[in-house]
Amino acid sequence: MAFNDYPSFSWSLSRKKVFETCKRQYYFQYYGYWGGWNAPPASVAYRAYRLKNMTTLPMLLGSIVHEVIEDAIKGYSASGSIPEYFQLAYEARKRLSDFWERSLAKEWKLKPKSPNLFEHGVGREFTREQRGEVREQIVRCFRNLYDSEKFRLVLDTNPESYRVPERLASTRIDGVEVFGVPDMALRTADDAQIIIDWKTGKQRGDGQDQLSTYGLFITRELGFEPCRIEGYLVYLDPLAEVGGTISAESIKSAEENARKSILDMISYIEDRVVNKPKSAEHFPKTTDENECKRCFFQELCHRDSALKLFPEAGVFP
Ligand code: SF4
Repeated sequence: MAFNDYPSFSWSLSRKKVFETCKRQYYFQYYGYWGGWNAPPASVAYRAYRLKNMTTLPMLLGSIVHEVIEDAIKGYSASGSIPEYFQLAYEARKRLSDFWERSLAKEWKLKPKSPNLFEHGVGREFTREQRGEVREQIVRCFRNLYDSEKFRLVLDTNPESYRVPERLASTRIDGVEVFGVPDMALRTADDAQIIIDWKTGKQRGDGQDQLSTYGLFITRELGFEPCRIEGYLVYLDPLAEVGGTISAESIKSAEENARKSILDMISYIEDRVVNKPKSAEHFPKTTDENECKRCFFQELCHRDSALKLFPEAGVFP
């Protein structure tokens, strides 16, 4: 299948986070990987494509818990019944084990999009106790989900009032597509719009930027007044629910932040028509070594650490 020479340009909070963390990482993540699926294995594009697909154990745990919750709510919507929490935990643990085994077997050496855990790449060993703690964390997440007010609200709401989150997932600002998919959205009996995001990571900040960005999508795409929109982040381990009505001011501020961030990103583009980036050298590397330790693109970036962590790999540039 034919594809463009460059990826299309869009904006999201996660893209903004990478952009603010390290411009070189941003280059690999959003440009350098492009075409890697058709490129020779030794090429930067192929390797960036493989590395972009990596995940960490906490990220993997989060995405599996989200998938299992989404499947459970879809099943509830279709059948009116929902499994017990421990059955969902069991399903999540099965998916985690499958990913783990495939990553250990290095299937990604032949298929770059195959499961690939960062911790395996850097040779990190997990003790029996640490693996047991991950399994316990999964159980706690689902037990707390079932104890949460917002999950109860979802089950008490007629599934016909659920909104397909993908339909709320994007809007346009100054012609640029802006993305962000909430985990759950529903309309209440008194015609308010509620957005819910499940979180498996630790609580950091008040999450207002994320909720306000979702609020922005809903005011723009569905025409709701801000006073009719509520947004909640539900932390699952330990259980904490934060959020409330999303104010008009915070939605305005989300729009201004997105607009400013888009302009900053555009300044790294050489040709806006095709979204051709400037060359990699124009994307400076961070000087924060802690960010480098967490970065998936080390083998393409830092010669010394790359040779230590990935002895089989060459480095770039
Ligand atoms: S290794 Fe460090 S400098 Fe290089 S891309 Fe990653 S975060 Fe940026």
